[in-house]
Amino acid sequence: MRAEIIFLGSGGGRWATITQKKPTGGFIINVDNLRMHVDPGPGAIVRANKLKLSPWKTNAIFVSHCHPDHYNDVEVLIEAMTEGMVKKRGYLIGSLTTIEGYGKYEKVVSDYHKSKVKNVVVIYPNDSINLYDNELIATKTKHGDPYGVGFRLKTRYGDIGYTSDTEKIDSLIDDFDGVRVLIANITRKKNEKIRGHLCSNDIIDIINSMNKKPELLVMFHMGLKITNPKSEAEYISKNTGIEVVPSKFGLKIELIDGIYKRIL
Ligand SMILES: [Zn+2]
Repeated sequence: MRAEIIFLGSGGGRWATITQKKPTGGFIINVDNLRMHVDPGPGAIVRANKLKLSPWKTNAIFVSHCHPDHYNDVEVLIEAMTEGMVKKRGYLIGSLTTIEGYGKYEKVVSDYHKSKVKNVVVIYPNDSINLYDNELIATKTKHGDPYGVGFRLKTRYGDIGYTSDTEKIDSLIDDFDGVRVLIANITRKKNEKIRGHLCSNDIIDIINSMNKKPELLVMFHMGLKITNPKSEAEYISKNTGIEVVPSKFGLKIELIDGIYKRIL
């Protein structure tokens, strides 16, 4: 028994999305009975099939906010999760903006698709929800979408954190203190601060302010300006003392009691 995280991409932001030079399929977390697809951006369905990860088995979908590199394939995944819109099944968890719409952000999931999901949950920071015996707690972000959320998923193999798109805010320190694996959306390389997103120095500050640092940091949602993810990962690792790996299409992380294993 184990928890695993499989990455269907590494990129984010408009240029990575348009060019697909860094794929934007999100990632899948499998824990016991949970199979959750997180932020299924453009290509998620293609990438999942390419890795022979059956979309039919999806039983939860998490959409952190209302930007297409995070939500684009959500309706197709709902169709898979509901066995072709035949069975009422699964969870759709997302920000207010993605599920109901708010202001200039129109909802991105149709009422028709929502009608076949068993549990549709609009989630706000600090809300928690039980997902097949794992607890998901929504975390705060500061980004273009005012209702964006990340999460901390508490599993019996340890906690998995996902920042989603956010700039550096103090709450990230506590929200992810002590997770085993932290997936952080790092859009820019060192010394390139950018509004609404994290750069390498931001994540270094956040990790170094924690009481218990993660065992592993996965760099996710990288922009095209990160031309050498490996050297960027080494820079973050050197400055935090933890292992850092850039996400890559097909990267798999396994959490087994006490250890984690990385399979590419
Ligand atoms: Zn965004």
